[in-house]
Amino acid sequence: MSDPARRPPRFDALADLPDVPADTLGLEAEEMRRLGYRVVDMVVDRAMRRGQEPAILTGAPEDLRAALGGPLPEAPIDPEASLDLMAEVALAHQQHGDHPRYFARVPGPAAFAAILGEWMGTGFNTICASWGGASGPAMVELVVIDWLAEMLGMPAETEGVLLSGGSMGNLTGFAAARAALGPGVAYLTDQTHASLPRNLRTLGFAQEEIAKLPAEADWRMSADTLRAAIARDRAAGRRPMMVVATAGSTNTGAVDPLPEIAEICAAEGLWLHVDGAYGAPAAITPEGRAALAGMERADSLALDPHKWLFQPYDLGVCLVTRPGALEAAFAISPEYLRDVRQAGDAVNFGNRSLELSRRSRALKLWMSLRTYGADRFRAAVRRGMELAELAERVLRERPGTWEVVTPAQLGIVCFALRGADAGKHEAAARAVSESGYACVTTTSLGGRSVLRLCTINPLTTEDDIRGTLERLAAV
Ligand SMILES: *Cc1c(COP(=O)(O)O)cnc(C)c1O
Repeated sequence: MSDPARRPPRFDALADLPDVPADTLGLEAEEMRRLGYRVVDMVVDRAMRRGQEPAILTGAPEDLRAALGGPLPEAPIDPEASLDLMAEVALAHQQHGDHPRYFARVPGPAAFAAILGEWMGTGFNTICASWGGASGPAMVELVVIDWLAEMLGMPAETEGVLLSGGSMGNLTGFAAARAALGPGVAYLTDQTHASLPRNLRTLGFAQEEIAKLPAEADWRMSADTLRAAIARDRAAGRRPMMVVATAGSTNTGAVDPLPEIAEICAAEGLWLHVDGAYGAPAAITPEGRAALAGMERADSLALDPHKWLFQPYDLGVCLVTRPGALEAAFAISPEYLRDVRQAGDAVNFGNRSLELSRRSRALKLWMSLRTYGADRFRAAVRRGMELAELAERVLRERPGTWEVVTPAQLGIVCFALRGADAGKHEAAARAVSESGYACVTTTSLGGRSVLRLCTINPLTTEDDIRGTLERLAAV
């Protein structure tokens, strides 16, 4: 490291900058700085105003095309005008999942330190495919996977890979299971997220290898139904292979009975995959760890830090507790793998999923865990669970108006207006969302329409919840 050209750069020596082109396509360094600072100001200003903008705004296709399209720009257009247009039109017309009254589907309350990590990775054009080409970012990814596994209470041998989201996290776990155990039947329930059957079909599971079991009255998988289905399939000459359990369903926050399912998988020699895309982060708190007991016995676990770990899109994770299982499924050059084993920690992340050239999604999690510390994450996740409990209490204050259909579970509560049908619920949700005050969606439980709040934004207040419920009841 004594040759100055081989020393990593320091960033406090700006006076010594050489006089060379700064931008591949010709922006001047001073302009790059001016535009960059402007972007920071726009992002921070918007963060300060986010409770005032509509929680969701959807544009008409013809209006959006008229504003954003036009002929191919042959000549340069003022970048400041484009930044303004981007903020005022393109980025204004979306769901603002970090708005304190965005309660629909799953919010995305991203934290600023995570956004900084994302910007740095993009600014340095980081790739994290091979150890040789990305040893620094690869170590960051290894470190955040260890930190995540520790926070979630997963075993010490846990390995993983960062991906674009829960869909890819689940797909990657399924592919590892299939590579380890071969083809066979996968068991899930009618409460399993819709992307999971799609993943299985994409991987080539036949229709009769996707066994969708009816959930119990509390919307959880029944261990008895699972045992019976496995026995029935074996008797019919099929080969049970994997159970897909949900740790926090998107509909209700319900957790399948993980300890019993893990026992069944151990006894039957099946792979246990846990879809924790929504709920797994709850396990970083003592209350959530208790609700998710048994998750640590998963062979593979998917989770979505862009949901409940305050990361900007996109960031999903696949963790496996069978060392080498990801490489066994995805390594494209087995001779390469020998080097990996020799080098221990020198992981080629391009050998752990379908993504080869891939950006470093670990930087944002690394930056935010260091900036805030794990305890602030725990407090923020706990607050999300408490807010759903608060919403449930507020609903129960007016039993003549509201019925609580599923209690607060991992930050989600489902409820109904007394006497309302699907049309009335949808009209109430639409009116509140179109007013811009809040964003609420309905869902369907066993054919019954319900309203639903997902309350994982730690900036949400009691007034936000009361105000939203009052407006829903008034429609
Ligand atoms: C959101 C979600 C998914 C899909 O994750 P994406 O990040 O949207 O791809 C899968 N399962 C559950 C339980 C989810 O909540």
